[in-house]
Amino acid sequence: VPLLVSDFLERAVKLYGDKPAILDDTCIRTYSEVGERANQLSNGLASLGVTKGDKVAYLAPNTPEMLEGFYGVAQIGAVMTPLNTRLKPFDYQFILEHSESKVLFVDYTLLRQVEEILPHLPDLQHVIVHGEREVGYEPYEEWLQQFPRECMMEPELDEQDIASLLYTSGTTGDPKGVLLSHRSNYLHALSAMHHLRVSDQDVLLHVLPMFHVNGWGSPYYYTANGASQVMLRQTDPDLILDKIEQYGVTVVHMAPTVLNMVLEAFERKERTITQQVRVVIAGSAPPPAFVRRVEEELGWTFIQVYGMTEISPLITISEPRSVDILKSNEERYVLKAKTGYDLIGTRVKVVDELGEEVPCDGNTVGEIITRTNHVMEGYYKNKEATQSTIQHGWLHTGDMATVDEKGYIEIVDRKKDVIISGGENISSIEVEGVLYDHPAILEAAVIAVPHEKWGESPHAVIVLRSGEALTEMELITFCRERLAHFKVPKGITFMNELPKTASGKIQKVLLRKSFWQDHE
Ligand code: ATP
Ligand code: MG
Repeated sequence: VPLLVSDFLERAVKLYGDKPAILDDTCIRTYSEVGERANQLSNGLASLGVTKGDKVAYLAPNTPEMLEGFYGVAQIGAVMTPLNTRLKPFDYQFILEHSESKVLFVDYTLLRQVEEILPHLPDLQHVIVHGEREVGYEPYEEWLQQFPRECMMEPELDEQDIASLLYTSGTTGDPKGVLLSHRSNYLHALSAMHHLRVSDQDVLLHVLPMFHVNGWGSPYYYTANGASQVMLRQTDPDLILDKIEQYGVTVVHMAPTVLNMVLEAFERKERTITQQVRVVIAGSAPPPAFVRRVEEELGWTFIQVYGMTEISPLITISEPRSVDILKSNEERYVLKAKTGYDLIGTRVKVVDELGEEVPCDGNTVGEIITRTNHVMEGYYKNKEATQSTIQHGWLHTGDMATVDEKGYIEIVDRKKDVIISGGENISSIEVEGVLYDHPAILEAAVIAVPHEKWGESPHAVIVLRSGEALTEMELITFCRERLAHFKVPKGITFMNELPKTASGKIQKVLLRKSFWQDHE
């Protein structure tokens, strides 16, 4: 039997037909209804001439329409291509052209962002608008309702067929188009649902944008298990807390930067109603102090995951093993702040420049490489990048890490973010960990800036909590007491906010730019 992602919805319709699949302010829909709407979408796409392998682009926040797209597009073998909602017209033009998308579904709130480029896309044949009516455009709901609720076609699909084309965050440069097969998405979902213990008792709040790979995988594994899914259109911390309360949310996945804002909002207002949340899942190497705040103040179990678009996305999970459960809370927070160990179906190694595994001493740094059941088929139209990323079956992540004696991996930094100062390698993440311990600091990013004597030196860019004040000297003194001299930032810039990708990652490339302009 080929492993096809459409099986997940089919199963949910069969077993959980009457159960709410979608909980949203605009509608509540059962799994049967979602199944029927996905069929209508498949039939509608077929009537537009969309066939196997055609790209169908989506530009939408987390909405019921976006969720049904996951299944309506896939079950006829078309390729869902979600677009990041925070890009600029130029980027949309690049991705829509590069992907040769035939149809674009766009939420009415985002239509203006693409309107000017639409006439310049020869491959794009149809634009259909979700939500409110827009003059001159096909309205989704009326269009959808013309089509039968039974899927009228069953194309021959193989598990190697492509289900999705996702563009990377572009944290380190131009976004790359990642081709993920049905098989990869399927096997990833099986592994993730096991590790995250997903069940029909879960109510998931979709905080991570589904258009980004971190949010992308979850509609598969929560649907397969008949969980209810709450839509969130804006990552506003108060709104997140409100929805958790309103819908009895039990599980949330979010970027640590967003989780940090939720903590702030929680501390600002006296709120107590978050107890039913069983777990919060976040990526991006948070410091142990942060894990402690989440677990002790919010009362949520913190799980860290590590992944990347190219892997569908998860590679490791950080959950202390049963032998570590007996440790003190402080020790467990240190373990949870590590990147963790490989998921079932995935093998991970940390290797030096010669490809030899580094010793398990928790100290020697190497690059994470991985071999997994759910790796991408390749970068779309970029053979060269594919070949340099996947070598002899191992995918090179560009992330640097250590391994301890128990096999827990800890990300040290991205290869591109390591600061090399006078021949010493400084992990930007380590320095940020110290900065985050300062009570006045809301956000911190440490970057390499040019230094006459040392080549590069660490520089901190800081956002203070509202109402707090701090001088450059005070902060440097704070760091001197906690860090080796060469790791202490030589300068500090205070900003009101840091540039971030739509998934909430700090874009250090942009921060670095202004310092390096005269040097390139
Ligand atoms: P681009 O490849 O376009 O520069 P990107 O790498 O940010 O963008 P994604 O695939 O969205 O695009 O992100 C994957 C990267 O995110 C990983 O390679 C890693 O650097 C970082 N990351 C993910 N999870 C974690 C984590 N738990 N801890 C530290 N870093 C993480
Ligand atoms: Mg990347």
